[in-house]
Amino acid sequence: MAYPYKKMDTADFYYIISVTEPSRVKIGEEISEEFYHDEMPNYGSYPPELYVEVTSEEEISKIMAYCNEHNIPLVVRGAGTGLAGGSSCKYGGVMLSVMRMNKIYPVDHKNQTITCEPGALLIDVQKEALAEGLFYPPDPGEKYASIGGNVITNAGGMKAVRYGLTRDFVRCIRAVLPDGSIEQFSSNVVKNTTGYSIKDLVIGSEGTLCIVTQVTLKLLPAPKYSATLVIPFESLEACADMVPHVLALPYVPTAIEFLERELLDIVERTLDRRLPVKEGNAVLLVMYDSTTPQELDGAIEVCAHASFREGAIDVFVADTPDRIAQVWAVRGGILEGMKADSVMQEECDVVVPRSAIAEYVKAAKRIALSHGIRVEPCGHCGDGNIHTEMLRGPEMSDEEWEAATSACLKELYALSKSLGGQLSGEHGIGNGRLEYFKEFVGDRIIELHKAIKLAFDPNLVLNPGKVVEFNS
Ligand SMILES: Cc1cc2nc3c(=O)[nH]c(=O)nc-3n(C[C@H](O)[C@H](O)[C@H](O)COP(=O)(O)OP(=O)(O)OC[C@H]3O[C@@H](n4cnc5c(N)ncnc54)[C@H](O)[C@@H]3O)c2cc1C
Repeated sequence: MAYPYKKMDTADFYYIISVTEPSRVKIGEEISEEFYHDEMPNYGSYPPELYVEVTSEEEISKIMAYCNEHNIPLVVRGAGTGLAGGSSCKYGGVMLSVMRMNKIYPVDHKNQTITCEPGALLIDVQKEALAEGLFYPPDPGEKYASIGGNVITNAGGMKAVRYGLTRDFVRCIRAVLPDGSIEQFSSNVVKNTTGYSIKDLVIGSEGTLCIVTQVTLKLLPAPKYSATLVIPFESLEACADMVPHVLALPYVPTAIEFLERELLDIVERTLDRRLPVKEGNAVLLVMYDSTTPQELDGAIEVCAHASFREGAIDVFVADTPDRIAQVWAVRGGILEGMKADSVMQEECDVVVPRSAIAEYVKAAKRIALSHGIRVEPCGHCGDGNIHTEMLRGPEMSDEEWEAATSACLKELYALSKSLGGQLSGEHGIGNGRLEYFKEFVGDRIIELHKAIKLAFDPNLVLNPGKVVEFNS
């Protein structure tokens, strides 16, 4: 089984239509090109042979079992906002969209949890929780991603500094396995040592082990007060050096992000969004949440004091919902702004120990410049996940761009490794980082990944060629 996969024929199309509905199935050229790739078309653009929108777990189970039996690859599609080339049909076959399965069940107040189908949007889950006075803290930049996609990629986001990742909020998962069987991993319990934590293995598996059909998520009481400090510095180095000082304060920040002047100018120029401060070549954003106004005031005061002590030019406090939204809209517009300002982008998503943030940022700039690449390091500096965005100008040929980014990425990954970091902090391996993954972790770890993949999916029909590649 597996490679080469079966080319789908009329009998296969009819079967999938028979277990769903003709209006929810598209074949061949009827399929929109947006489904050939995710947000990173340069990580692979592949036409599915059939696209189907499912409405129930039973439909998923039947289609998955059929594909497994007939050696047809199947890829699950959430909102398609992934940044690793994960939700694309590398070997053709079926693209199965779960976006119609978007039910959100009423909040379970006794357990402080919310249960939803995989196609529910993150923004809707957050809103439902808030309407009940509760809070779903994971906050990746893309609010219109599906919750299933968030869980299966273990999405991080700005608030990971204080609250952690999506994984930290998943109580249990229902899923269809590649043979079509339906399983539940864990249950609505706070702790669990019943065997291996398969739930945690599934979280972050990038759609290669099973299809998530339902998730139950932990909620917290919603913080009542929030403020964001906007702190400009003369240099990127001074800004990055400030991060450990913020973390050493007696108040835990919710988010710490930094932005360079050049990036701020891009967002202003392309999206007409700007921060309330004009000074400085780099700006630190520090968010605090609290349950009392006194606690918030205390956090603002010590952070402002420490910032001035460490050379901040100014400290602007955004403490009304409008001002806070204005500040975070700038941060949220980075990807869109960079896309509008360059011909192509490549992203390095390394995560380094917090103690090494400043060293990484300084060295990354030097490395990129040595390869003639315009680079914009930015991102979740509070947790060490620095997105080093490389931007292609119109003057670079395809060959020059590919050679420069490939050489640059190799050096950046080596730098991250030497500092005790990892290759990807939140966007995953998918298709786009496969070649670097092997080099980064070594043969033994790749063998373990392959053994895990085979334990779930012995016929390699679910999202083949992502995270680990057997066809080489
Ligand atoms: C502007 C922008 C900002 C972003 N910010 C962040 C950020 O701050 N932090 C972060 O971590 N990510 C971020 N992302 C990346 C992206 O939003 C996340 O990876 C998201 O979790 C993907 O969800 P999706 O529904 O779009 O999944 P898709 O892109 O459709 O799929 C992603 C992967 O999950 C698989 N998959 C999807 N649904 C299921 C399911 N139900 N069962 C099994 N497999 C499934 C797919 O096969 C694929 O491998 C950002 C993306 C954009 C465009």
